[in-house]
Amino acid sequence: MPSSSPVDMKLAKCKHVKYFLRNLKLMPARASSYDSTRLALAFFCISGLDILKSLDVFDEAERKSTIDWIYGLLVEPISPERGDDWDRCGFMGSSTFKFATDGSNEPSPYSSGHLTMTYTGLATLLILGDDLSRVNRRALSAGVRALQQENGSFCASLEGSENDMRFVYCAAAVCYILQDWSGMDVQKAVNYILNSISYDYGFGEGPDLEAHGGTTYCAVAALSLMGQLETCLSSKQLNGLRRWCISRQMSGFQGRPNKPVDTCYSFWVGATLKLLGVYHLIDYDQNKELLLSSQDSTIGGFSKWVDSDPDPMHTFLGLGGLALMSDEDLEEVHPGLNMSERALSHLHSIHKKWMS
Ligand SMILES: [Zn+2]
Repeated sequence: MPSSSPVDMKLAKCKHVKYFLRNLKLMPARASSYDSTRLALAFFCISGLDILKSLDVFDEAERKSTIDWIYGLLVEPISPERGDDWDRCGFMGSSTFKFATDGSNEPSPYSSGHLTMTYTGLATLLILGDDLSRVNRRALSAGVRALQQENGSFCASLEGSENDMRFVYCAAAVCYILQDWSGMDVQKAVNYILNSISYDYGFGEGPDLEAHGGTTYCAVAALSLMGQLETCLSSKQLNGLRRWCISRQMSGFQGRPNKPVDTCYSFWVGATLKLLGVYHLIDYDQNKELLLSSQDSTIGGFSKWVDSDPDPMHTFLGLGGLALMSDEDLEEVHPGLNMSERALSHLHSIHKKWMS
């Protein structure tokens, strides 16, 4: 049987809405190992529903209770005036390790923010229409700053973690959202990014590492949020980078040369090309065909590869990849912050209030 052309294939919108709701409300037991990143999972689902223009599946009580749940994951300063415990501030991924196990309601020794959760927590609050008024911005910025390393990169949390480009991006996104760049030594972060350019002009996780679509997105989006993308890279580097990204398109996109295509890179590499101003040079039809072939039209969701199991992250990023091509059924997505333009304009109205 001939395969369907992209013109024949339709986005299974209702199935994807149900898929996200199922993952928000009823995760299977085998997902329990993701407990510590529950907030990121909620971000994939809620931001995905936003891209699908379907946030109206939540009534007002559900929207408010979700906002309250997210604020419940915020590690706040015990002494807001003194500032001596601000290093720990940020969002945790779940409440499991927030409090001591003796029932005293005291913070556990593991109670501290995680950069990815702080970014996804703030982003989800914005998507749900919250005004961030319950966030202590100075304390949160101090929590970000405490995670920057001597080489300019960031760790995820005070408990110790890898430090690489992923967390440089998360730190830049948090600073941008809070409009407070005291959360990082920007020059050090820029130097780390510049030291991570590979010989082929993509970016690795850090210096001397292989270029990769995900870390290239993190580097380029971080520079863009810092307002440094056009100024700190030479035109030779920018053109080499554009060429590296465009060369990642096979049908959809691969993350590295000689790797198979994967749904998520239609967003990671696609958004990078948007930020670099050359997205129009990709083959839209092939990209769309790959993405629509990766959706599960029975239970909803997108998978990493055609005919494999869907997961929330690839569903969110698959939709983001489609939205970059300006699909009228989908919200437009801002390539730098990885949230809808709708949520971003809400953020900009909050920024105006903060400045007045
Ligand atoms: Zn992937």
